Amino acid sequence: MNIILLGPPGAGKGTQAQTLVDQRNMMQLSTGDMLREARTSGTEMGKIVADVMDRGDLVTDEIVIGLIREKLEAGGAPGGYIFDGFPRTLAQADALGQLLSETGQTLDTVIEMRVEDDALVHRIVNRAAEAVAAGKPARADDNEESLRTRLFAYYKQTGPLIGYYHAKGLLTSIDGMGQIDEVAAALSAVLDG
Ligand code: AMP
Repeated sequence: MNIILLGPPGAGKGTQAQTLVDQRNMMQLSTGDMLREARTSGTEMGKIVADVMDRGDLVTDEIVIGLIREKLEAGGAPGGYIFDGFPRTLAQADALGQLLSETGQTLDTVIEMRVEDDALVHRIVNRAAEAVAAGKPARADDNEESLRTRLFAYYKQTGPLIGYYHAKGLLTSIDGMGQIDEVAAALSAVLDG
């Protein structure tokens, strides 16, 4: 089963993806994680995207589609893929459809996690505080100004994907406001339904 978790920054996509990896043998493909890894390892691409990411803007479609293509060509996800933070634009959504069909696969469902803006800000501010309390650096884009840019990018560039996948008959929306296990249960109900 191949699924997309769609939702604004702070919606809990990464947290829920981790549970699905543990419980269903799925593979999480997070372009945000891949880009952060590229930065840490100091690759040329990592250097190019650093400023864009810290500002909270989207990196180019070409870069993220390339990252996903590499993973899909490598294969090795018996339980299927969880796309987390990808696609974020209509061009990426089209490219994903094409990449999947080239590798003989389909997209099974798209789950939109709905969370109110105030709660998103609260979660992101908390995530930064928790990192610092644990002696780790907070994400450079987990600050109020970048978050505003990230939210704007979500509504402007990623929002249209909701209509796109609805039109394809693939979209289900769940309430992402509850506790982690409540959201996990709602997610499971969709996947098993
Ligand atoms: P995330 O960890 O998903 O919140 O992503 C962190 C940052 O990485 C985003 O704010 C973007 O700058 C960049 N990024 C991650 N995924 C994508 C994507 N699919 N398209 C464009 N930029 C992305």
